[in-house]
Amino acid sequence: MENKFKRTLITTALPYANGPVHIGHLAGVYVPADIYARYLRLKGEDVVMIGGSDEHGVPITLRARKEGITPQQVVDRYHAIIKDSLEKLGVSFDIYSRTTSDIHNETASEFFRHLYDKNEFTVKTSLQPYDETAGQFLADRYVTGTCPRCGNEHAYGDQCEACGSSLNATDLINPKSALSGAPVTMRETTHWYLPLDKWEGKLSHWILDGHKEWKSNVYGQCKSWIDGGLQPRAVSRDLDWGVPVPVEGAEGKVLYVWFDAPIGYISNTKELLPDSWEKWWKDPETRIINFIGKDNIVFHCIVFPAMLMAYGDGFQLPDNVPANEFLNLEGDKISTSRNWAVWLHEYLEELPGRQDTLRYVLTANAPETKDNDFTWADFQARNNNELVAILGNFVNRALVLTHKYFDGKVPAAGELTDTDTVMEEEVRKAVEALTEALDTFHFREGLKQAMEIARIGNRYLQETQPWAVAKTDMTRTATILNLAINLCANLAVAFEPFMPFMSARLAGMLHLDAMKWDELGKFDIIPAGTQLEKPELLFEKIEDETIQQQVQKLLDAKKANELAAWHPEPQAKDVDFETFELCDFRVGTVKECIKVPKADKLLKFTIDDGTPEGRTIVSGIAKFYKPEELVGTQVCYIANLPPRKLKGIVSEGMILSAVNADGSLTLIRPAAQATPGAKIG
Ligand code: ZN
Repeated sequence: MENKFKRTLITTALPYANGPVHIGHLAGVYVPADIYARYLRLKGEDVVMIGGSDEHGVPITLRARKEGITPQQVVDRYHAIIKDSLEKLGVSFDIYSRTTSDIHNETASEFFRHLYDKNEFTVKTSLQPYDETAGQFLADRYVTGTCPRCGNEHAYGDQCEACGSSLNATDLINPKSALSGAPVTMRETTHWYLPLDKWEGKLSHWILDGHKEWKSNVYGQCKSWIDGGLQPRAVSRDLDWGVPVPVEGAEGKVLYVWFDAPIGYISNTKELLPDSWEKWWKDPETRIINFIGKDNIVFHCIVFPAMLMAYGDGFQLPDNVPANEFLNLEGDKISTSRNWAVWLHEYLEELPGRQDTLRYVLTANAPETKDNDFTWADFQARNNNELVAILGNFVNRALVLTHKYFDGKVPAAGELTDTDTVMEEEVRKAVEALTEALDTFHFREGLKQAMEIARIGNRYLQETQPWAVAKTDMTRTATILNLAINLCANLAVAFEPFMPFMSARLAGMLHLDAMKWDELGKFDIIPAGTQLEKPELLFEKIEDETIQQQVQKLLDAKKANELAAWHPEPQAKDVDFETFELCDFRVGTVKECIKVPKADKLLKFTIDDGTPEGRTIVSGIAKFYKPEELVGTQVCYIANLPPRKLKGIVSEGMILSAVNADGSLTLIRPAAQATPGAKIG
């Protein structure tokens, strides 16, 4: 591919430091961005990869309220977890900083001030949601209500997570305060607006005419925004957490988080390269690529570019914004608040040494063109059937055989046969497809092609059978194993962007010191005579037990959610005392208890009710109690119901139990031994 650019600036959406990062963040942004950065570095290109935490905005202050700590404590806690866990996953940021840094505050402040001085803002006084009890304006997520587009009752004042619409707090139906639950009132307040309408023509020309190569989900969203007509957008908020609006008369106002956060890309570049940052932003020979999730498209393709155009001074617009769709988890939307997620920092602790497997599975299932699903069953299958059985197996065989027949010293290749040249040609084809895929941000396809190289290797060994040939022809065996070892070197390079830990170990075994993309497809990467290290397994099987533990964790989370969302049934309508007194509640002792045949819910009780005859009661609690455990215990029952026939048995009463949040039943029992037949009252 002809390249008119001298260097590439890769940015990754700054995650809100209101929680740890989960697999959705990874699949959408950090893994693909890291693959791309590593790929370009292997090609010898000049690359900078920028990351950092987004530490302002309502997501942070809401979290602080929920946890009863300050916003600063929230961001300190989660920034540390996020930074550490991304690093351990091998995400190769050149810098991972934060938007509470001094340099960011100065940069964002100066950015606003510059637009202000250039008269790029309009000022508008309008009615905004206000909470009378809390005595404060309700910015963005401080308002919740019903989404006017899809009817979701838990939409936020800035966005509906159910349908992805970007909203204004005033659009919501029945808006309520997230602080107090009170209905919102409206108060006048003044804010600065960036007139996006002013930039509509330029944005349209830049994207709709100039970037038809963008992913169709990204291009499509931009088109519908632009076609719908762009409106001025408020860039300040009435909040006490954020970058203060740097003009007079703006007390109590801060920059809107979506104004300051993307400037974080610039501040973090400055922090990394104080002397040369400008060339990464203002030189037309720099290519800027923004990796984001689909909910960030409008901010990166419309709002931030309009800010950069308004600023002028040579700021470059992104060359591409390869946004991904969303990753679901076991068929359900990932959610921080519902704890429906696989958290990276927990994964790293619970499945130690498995970073590459996660990177592999998230890439193989990347939500590149549509939402996709992560399941633990698929995770296990891909590890065991692909990484262990195909990639790990090939490398292991090639190395073990070379140790067996040549003491681990790479033998020289002799004359090549057709089988050899066909194999080499297949590898080169896969490499070509891999490169093409990475150049166009098709990482799933790229990974498939890298895996194809390992499959070619397995087929080659199957076909050439060096273990059989070795009985008669060591020269031919030498050629086969030379090629197999060089195929391993191809794998080390091809997989480096995807699975850097595996790649480094493999390169170590092969003594392949410098990996270069250019060497892919070649079969003289490892010179004859190289002494190989002893082979170690690159991947280990994941056992069912490990997977079951993870699945159980999710089931527990689901249960906790159900409990949290549960409300006791509304109270039944009043009953007069005389009517109530007609009910005859009693205590009895269980003499016998058996399952009712052909009924999975029913148990048949024989109860000592203080009379010589006793009584029989059939009860639907078989799913929750074992009959043998009930014998000798006491239960409570209503004695004066008319007898009823259940499965041919006459039931003389009803045993009392509580119906729990999850639908399970708990028997009601006296706290201490009571006289059989005693009346409850
Ligand atoms: Zn909606």
